[in-house]
Amino acid sequence: MAAALTLCFVFRMMCIIHKIRQSANARGRPAMAAAGLLRQNVLKSKEKKAMYQETFMRQALALAAKALDTPGTEPFGAVVVKNGQVVGEGLNHSVANFDPTSHGEVEAIRDACRRLRSVDLAGCDLYTSCEPCALCVAAMRIAGIRALFYAASMEQAGRAFDGLPAAARHPIDVDDLRAEAGAPLALRKMPAQQHLADEATKVLAAWAAPRKR
Ligand SMILES: [Zn+2]
Repeated sequence: MAAALTLCFVFRMMCIIHKIRQSANARGRPAMAAAGLLRQNVLKSKEKKAMYQETFMRQALALAAKALDTPGTEPFGAVVVKNGQVVGEGLNHSVANFDPTSHGEVEAIRDACRRLRSVDLAGCDLYTSCEPCALCVAAMRIAGIRALFYAASMEQAGRAFDGLPAAARHPIDVDDLRAEAGAPLALRKMPAQQHLADEATKVLAAWAAPRKR
C-alpha cells in the first residue's frame, strides 16, 4: 500500500514537473526557473503540513494526569505547538477557577496567545488528551489552529466516566452542545430575544467609523 502510494506520488510529481517545463518553455522561460519554483512550492507545502509528534501528545497526557492529585481539576490536558515547540499548556480548571469554560484546550490556547502576544495561532497545532467538545473546537477555529491531534475519543471518555455521580464533575452534554452551538439562533433550544438593536448598532458603527479611515 505504502509502495503504491509512493509510486503514485512520484508519478504525479513527474507529471507536474513535465507540465511546468512545458509551460515555462512555451513562454520562453528557462526550465531551471520553473524547477526552482516547484522546489519552493514543495518546501512551502512541507512547512504547511502538520506532522504528528508523539512527544507532544505525551505532554498533553502528562498534563491530564496532573488532575489525579490537583483538586478542582479534571483529567483533560492540551498543548499548543508551533514550529516544533510547545507554546501553550492547559489543564481543565473549571471547578478550581469557577470557570465552566476552563477546558484543557481553551486553557492551552489562552496560554499560547498570552505567550505569543497574539490572537492568531495560525500554523500552530493542538494536542489534546481527549477529543475536544464544541466549545473547544470553536476556540480552535477562532484562534486559527492548523491541526488537531487527540488521544481518547469522546466515546471512550464517555465510557470511562459512565456512572460518575453528577456532583463529581461539571457535566457537559456534548451532543446537545454541538447541536446548540451549530444551530442558527432561531433553531436553538435556548430562548433568545432581541432588544435595543438600534442603540447597540450605533455603538458598533461609532467604533468602526474611525478605523475605516
Ligand atoms: Zn472543551
